[in-house]
Amino acid sequence: MRLSVRLMLVSLLVASPVVRAADQPGAKMTADAALARLMDGNKRFVAGQLTHPDQTRQRRESLAKSQTPFAVILSCSDSRVPPEIVFDAGLGNLFVVRVAGNVVDDVALGSIEYAVEHLGAPLVMVLGHERCGAVTAATQPGEPEAHIKSLVQAIKPAVDAVKGQPGDLVDNAIAANVRLGVKQLGTSREILGKHLDEHKLTIVGARYDLDTGAVEIVQ
Ligand SMILES: [Zn+2]
Repeated sequence: MRLSVRLMLVSLLVASPVVRAADQPGAKMTADAALARLMDGNKRFVAGQLTHPDQTRQRRESLAKSQTPFAVILSCSDSRVPPEIVFDAGLGNLFVVRVAGNVVDDVALGSIEYAVEHLGAPLVMVLGHERCGAVTAATQPGEPEAHIKSLVQAIKPAVDAVKGQPGDLVDNAIAANVRLGVKQLGTSREILGKHLDEHKLTIVGARYDLDTGAVEIVQ
């Protein structure tokens, strides 16, 4: 891990927006168990020891009429960071929302609310990644064309929050953008707030390393 990122992750420990819920009584999987399953899958991915779970015909048929994903992943659209692959997951495991820069807008939020309220997902992960093009664009001067502008505007507050800090601006902004997403979800007082208050939901931020394949929690 580069020093700048390490510094950012340490600094995030000071004012973490992450909300850790207690175990969910009666749930099929607790948030802690869901997070452990994600990280175990990522370890297999990093080691090149994928098991491709839950990808059989029987699994497909068992899910035809219902789903109970154990985690929601809000990740970047980047072609190098497909959640099902980097977490070695299968059908019915992950409820994935992907948008460039893992931006939280109303549509993404509504998708996440649906998964939490109606599918019972105990864990939401905001997953940023190294060398994110959308975050990089938000660190550069000028205004991008067409609707890319909307993405950049959504990420700009994260860039502004780390301007002048030691280390690499893009690396710092990627972590700050994850932190911003976690905060936006954690302060959404409707469905997500209710589940947080009832200790049925954990929201966590993470960063994917393009070089190693490893996912690290951004606390
Ligand atoms: Zn990206």
